[in-house]
Amino acid sequence: METLLSAKINRLETSATLAMAAKTRELKQEGKDIIGLSLGQPDFNTPDFIKDAAVRAIEENYNSYTPVDGYGELKEAIVHKFKRDNQLDYQADQVVVSTGAKQTLYNIAATVLDPGDEVILPCPYWVSYRDIVKLNEGTPVEIKTSIDQDFKLTPEQLEANLTEKTKMIWYSSPCNPSGSVYTKKELEAIAEVLQKYPDVLVISDEIYEHINFGEAHVSMASIQGMKDRTITVNGVSKAFAMTGWRIGYMAAPPSIAKACTKLQGQVTSGANCIAQRAVITALKESPDRIQPMIDIFEQRRKLILDLLERIPGFETNVPQGAFYVFPNVSKFFGKKIAGKEIKNATDFSFLLLENAHVATVTGEAFGNPDCIRISYAASNENIKNAVERIRELLDGVL
Ligand code: PMP
Ligand code: GLU
Repeated sequence: METLLSAKINRLETSATLAMAAKTRELKQEGKDIIGLSLGQPDFNTPDFIKDAAVRAIEENYNSYTPVDGYGELKEAIVHKFKRDNQLDYQADQVVVSTGAKQTLYNIAATVLDPGDEVILPCPYWVSYRDIVKLNEGTPVEIKTSIDQDFKLTPEQLEANLTEKTKMIWYSSPCNPSGSVYTKKELEAIAEVLQKYPDVLVISDEIYEHINFGEAHVSMASIQGMKDRTITVNGVSKAFAMTGWRIGYMAAPPSIAKACTKLQGQVTSGANCIAQRAVITALKESPDRIQPMIDIFEQRRKLILDLLERIPGFETNVPQGAFYVFPNVSKFFGKKIAGKEIKNATDFSFLLLENAHVATVTGEAFGNPDCIRISYAASNENIKNAVERIRELLDGVL
């Protein structure tokens, strides 16, 4: 039966983050005491004021198909959010609501890419970008960045990789997996390079916007000259602890928004009605309401960085946002640990899973084969125990 699968689907790789989450679940079911630091999802419950809105929506009989691009009221709330948080003036016809930011990103790629179009992906990038590009017959152009540049693309690197075939550049800030956040100045420098390439689009994935511990978040679309060529992607999964509700959204030039709606109308008919009603309430509230969760993430960042510093061989940047650390572990490559030869980050991540019972994700999935990603969206106790298990396993290796 396998021969019946399309070449397209055979080329597609399984999402490494979701694969590791599934493996963790499986091992836990077998009774193994695994600490899961692989999946990027808040360990909080969705705030009560949002849950209450969903319950009300059920009671008020919201049960029909919604407009394909989302309820008008939700799109207005999104327009308001962009104005309030990002000083961006969008019209409702520029906004499309989808089943998670992942679908938003897929819609965009499917809508703008023709075969052979190049998409610049600064590495490390979020795991699904590369495969979404490939699925839509685009060509990913991966640009390596190092820890010394805080894993951020420089204008020189961008310039050197732009070609006649470049269709877009695609990045997240705060970045999953490095936690790096582009400053206004850095975005301006990138925008300046792009001035010479007026047909190149930008996908700015800002889903971690509120989980930001440093300078205020800056949207690429707010940089002079960028709004008409930038697609701003956001969602509620991370900031509002709503991963399972599956609502993401974008604001884009009207033609792209219209095309994404056309695509979505043939694929999902639109996002879940109850979740959309709840998100109206979430987005209308001031972001101050979720600050307590952000403060906890910041405390955990300090905790994990302090603990990892005690393990020789882990070299880590200081993430300014999101809830991941992305240590370079290449000093362990070529070593034999617990009887296993460690050749790369994937071997290392599996070593941690099998011998320390700590789930992480290999950096290979994010375009950086020297690092692993550790999510600190976990309790202090789990963070402490996990790092202690890793320290014990690696004790004396270097
Ligand atoms: N972008 C980034 C950078 C992410 O980490 C995620 C993870 N969920 C997504 C997009 C997709 O989010 P969702 O589909 O849950 O809205
Ligand atoms: N974005 C999360 C992560 O990077 C969730 C997993 C996924 O959607 O792939 O772990």
